[in-house]
Amino acid sequence: MIASVDQSGCIGCGMCEQTAPEVFQLQGGTAQAISGEVPPHCEEAAKEAAANCPVSVIHID
Ligand code: SF4
Repeated sequence: MIASVDQSGCIGCGMCEQTAPEVFQLQGGTAQAISGEVPPHCEEAAKEAAANCPVSVIHID
């Protein structure tokens, strides 16, 4: 699983970082996803963050 954030649409609410701090981090006011594979124990949290992002800019592949 790979997580990514379309930073052009991110409003910096911080929800994803709270939900999955090992996957998403705020930097400079927008969220970034870790590069590479999401650790297996973080997959559910990453999916939850994607589902709950208020502007739907988190993508899971
Ligand atoms: S939940 Fe969405 S809008 Fe909020 S910081 Fe994360 S990517 Fe940005």
